[in-house]
Amino acid sequence: MSTNLVWFKHTDLRLKDHQALKSAFSNKKSNVLLIVCIDPFFFSTTKFGHVKFDKFKEKFLYESIINLYQNIKKYNGHLNIYFDSPLNVIPTLVEKFNIKAIYHIQDTTSEELSLLENIKLKINVPFKTYWSNTLYHIDHIQFPIPFIFSQFKNKLAKLPILEEFNLNLQKLSRTITDIDDFEKLQNKNNDIHLKLIFKPGEDAAWERLHYYFFDSQLLSTYKITRNSLIGDDYSSKFSPYLAFGNISAKSIYHQINKYENSITKNESTYWLYFELLWRDFFRFSTLQYKNKIFQIQGIANKKLPWKYISDNHTKNLFQHWKNGTTGYPYIDAIMIQLKKTGYISNRARQMTASFLTKDLQIDWRAGADYFESILIDHDVASNYGNWNYSAGVGSDPRENRYFNVYKQCLNFDPTCEFILFWIPELQKYDKNNIIHASKLFTYHPKIINIKPYKNFKN
Ligand SMILES: Cc1cc2nc3c(=O)[nH]c(=O)nc-3n(C[C@H](O)[C@H](O)[C@H](O)COP(=O)(O)OP(=O)(O)OC[C@H]3O[C@@H](n4cnc5c(N)ncnc54)[C@H](O)[C@@H]3O)c2cc1C
Repeated sequence: MSTNLVWFKHTDLRLKDHQALKSAFSNKKSNVLLIVCIDPFFFSTTKFGHVKFDKFKEKFLYESIINLYQNIKKYNGHLNIYFDSPLNVIPTLVEKFNIKAIYHIQDTTSEELSLLENIKLKINVPFKTYWSNTLYHIDHIQFPIPFIFSQFKNKLAKLPILEEFNLNLQKLSRTITDIDDFEKLQNKNNDIHLKLIFKPGEDAAWERLHYYFFDSQLLSTYKITRNSLIGDDYSSKFSPYLAFGNISAKSIYHQINKYENSITKNESTYWLYFELLWRDFFRFSTLQYKNKIFQIQGIANKKLPWKYISDNHTKNLFQHWKNGTTGYPYIDAIMIQLKKTGYISNRARQMTASFLTKDLQIDWRAGADYFESILIDHDVASNYGNWNYSAGVGSDPRENRYFNVYKQCLNFDPTCEFILFWIPELQKYDKNNIIHASKLFTYHPKIINIKPYKNFKN
């Protein structure tokens, strides 16, 4: 009997709508070896000195794999977990089990692609590669895609969105065991003493979806609430599940349709689909612009006067930004939330990215690198695409988009509820002064002077 290998990556940890998984079982006569690799590379240090997977991502990864392992077990199947690079693991398994083909989901960015190329150099087995992590299928996308999002969006309107590719899970009993390192994984997970704000894994992703859509019907007001800052419910919080592939964008789309057919269809239901289109846009952009998304001039190839993290003064400013000690309470509250939870809202990301790149004029790649490490929902395409955009080197059609810290605070935290939640020691100050970072005598001094906002009366 021949054996196929399914290689789960950290970006597709799910059973539902997984075309590579489904296809690997299509030949009734094949055994299937399911593998996932916890690559030591995930915990290496980047050139800006951050661990690629900081503790939030690390724990989310472990718990997503634990959930996947348990779900496979329910069907008498087995997931082999390796604490090694796929570059070592896959060639060894190919030889040991005489693997006929390797099934996996297509990546689009350089580290993942060069890993694949290096594996291919070591073995002579066909790779069956599937496109799975966007709403729209790559076969339907016409390249080059437009530079600007709105034009990309308009082109998609007539394209189909495919149905889910769901495996009959009874077939999982045809999987075979090489090793069982589940206990080691559980121990590693237990060693990280941290309570995540999101419960990881495929089951939790679907629980969240059912809660957000059908139990609470929060989807009906998504467009009105999505720019808020406080609480669990102002936005979907699907991003960590999408980043680890616990749920597919396509599955979410089909559930939006179900909601529209059974509950209501309005601007908010459309808007969640619209935001998922942004995700597609950045993902397809990585194919088009390749490593430009990581380069200082960005996909727009624009030269701007950046301060590099090379001298002590700039290093110091960058540390203040990361630690939430800039002297601007609104920025600091956001950065403290990020440091403590691994998550901040979209508005908050836009604000702090603007502060780093437009006010401090610091090399945007350092900020993106920090986000890559700390964000629980880090996704290469969305992170670098958005940083390109925020830094003014991306696909933003507007020149010099700028978020004024006072104005943003007035609009999105006028009562300082968010700020005081993260920095309670500011309680004693007048709210007007907190918003305008003025006369906060016992607070951090401001690391840069931003002109007072026009409406400020002190
Ligand atoms: C500087 C910066 C860095 C970012 N880094 C990431 C990242 O690493 N990973 C990530 O998933 N998102 C990133 N985003 C986009 C966005 O902030 C998050 O997707 C969103 O805040 C996640 O919360 P949510 O799931 O509740 O979003 P919702 O508002 O509920 O949106 C639903 C889904 O739509 C997608 N989406 C929404 N906004 C965007 C957007 N601007 N770009 C791409 N997709 C979007 C996400 O998949 C999100 O889960 C970044 C934005 C900025 C400005």
